[in-house]
Amino acid sequence: MRYLSTRGHPDRKGFCDILLEGLAPDGGLYLPEHYPRVDPATLGRWRATYQTQGYAALAYEVLSLYIDDIPSADLRDLCDRTYTEAVFGTRAIVPLKQLEQPEVAGQPTPLYLEALSNGPTLAFKDMAMQLLGHLFEYELARRGEQLNILGATSGDTGSAAEYAMRGKKGVRVFMTSPDGRMSPFQQAQMFSLMDDNIHNIAIEGVFDDCQDIVKAVSNDLAFKRQYKIGTVNSINWARLLAQVVYYFAGYFQATSADTEQVSFAVPSGNFGNVCAGHVARMMGLPISRLVVATNENDVLDEFFRTGVYRVRGSADTHETSSPSMDISKASNFERFVFDLLGRDGARVRALFGEGLSREGRFDLQADPLFVQAGPRYGFASGRSSHADRLATIRDTHARLGLMIDTHTADGLKVAREQLQPGVPMIVLETALPIKFAATLVEALGLEPERPPAFIGIEALPKRVTHMAADAMAVKAYIQRHCA
Ligand SMILES: *Cc1c(COP(=O)(O)O)cnc(C)c1O
Repeated sequence: MRYLSTRGHPDRKGFCDILLEGLAPDGGLYLPEHYPRVDPATLGRWRATYQTQGYAALAYEVLSLYIDDIPSADLRDLCDRTYTEAVFGTRAIVPLKQLEQPEVAGQPTPLYLEALSNGPTLAFKDMAMQLLGHLFEYELARRGEQLNILGATSGDTGSAAEYAMRGKKGVRVFMTSPDGRMSPFQQAQMFSLMDDNIHNIAIEGVFDDCQDIVKAVSNDLAFKRQYKIGTVNSINWARLLAQVVYYFAGYFQATSADTEQVSFAVPSGNFGNVCAGHVARMMGLPISRLVVATNENDVLDEFFRTGVYRVRGSADTHETSSPSMDISKASNFERFVFDLLGRDGARVRALFGEGLSREGRFDLQADPLFVQAGPRYGFASGRSSHADRLATIRDTHARLGLMIDTHTADGLKVAREQLQPGVPMIVLETALPIKFAATLVEALGLEPERPPAFIGIEALPKRVTHMAADAMAVKAYIQRHCA
């Protein structure tokens, strides 16, 4: 399998080359040259594989269609070591729970929650990041190289990256975060890590200051090369590919025959998670709707309703109670637009390159291809507000005795608006409520339950370096710790 850029660059690359890269040289995102089709016989075989051999074996089947530069036995071993009951809490890894079965136009229509948040940091990002940790360690050892991951986080991504990379050979993590602005639980999760290869840097400032520092350091190409600076951001194809697997696993749990259809509702920010659903659907998984649920930062909902993609400035980006979806532009969205426009790289380059930076928007409303986003690709969308979130959390707790996190609540709210008679709807649970306890307390007057491993973490010793918002200081710190 070869990979190409969404902006038309002529180069083609193998999986392991794009694994360690960020953007393509022309600023585009990598995608496979084609999506392997999963025919009904294969789908049946994968169902049996998942049921009898488990999630890791299913992951191997999916990944091996896209990765041909890692020997099969090694790839299988990487999957086996990633998706274990010890790391993800259950044998199913992503167990499905039926919430209820409302009647839609007289037909019982089951509504499920797919648990993706029982990994080490209690958010779905562990599903992909844990695999990335094993893949990085494997590929760096094979090349005899090292990588220093520099990142900025406001919470979920940074901790998922640190828990995936801790103790891995050849990798160091330098993670900046805005000092004092993460929740006490999130700070405790990250700062209590004592591994030598994990460095927490608390920056005096806000998240944008952290991102500016990462950009400044990455733009110093000599420094970047000398210190082997890399990233683990959400545009990495390997992360997206890992997420494709749980769409299949969710489907197999919700259905008993390979002709049945299901829909998925996905709490969305950067469009990474739901883009994996798009890939699964392109492969032939019988998905009816892919429901994109946004919060008040409704860049994506606006596009699917109107055909207008309008990025926001930082002043127009709302700080919400589902903060991991507070984005001003959706960094993975270009991948879907590439497919929507018939894989026309020149057109994508014009829209996302010059066009977007000049005008901050583009408009596909009049394009006949935009009209196909729903009927041909299954996309539907909706938006959820703080009041919707609280109401959904209260209703789910009162009627079903279940606490859900704020992002998952956005997904559930929009899922209910998009039910089709008799088509099971699977809502992806993207975090556990304990991560966003303050809003749960606001909604219910109750503290969410805490998994045993996290009891008392706020009292653990912390390992963090405080610094001014100064890229030079961060560079000096990296230099000192790369000796
Ligand atoms: C990252 C994240 C999201 C958004 O996922 P995207 O792939 O960026 O669309 C939603 N919920 C939670 C809890 C997250 O951490």
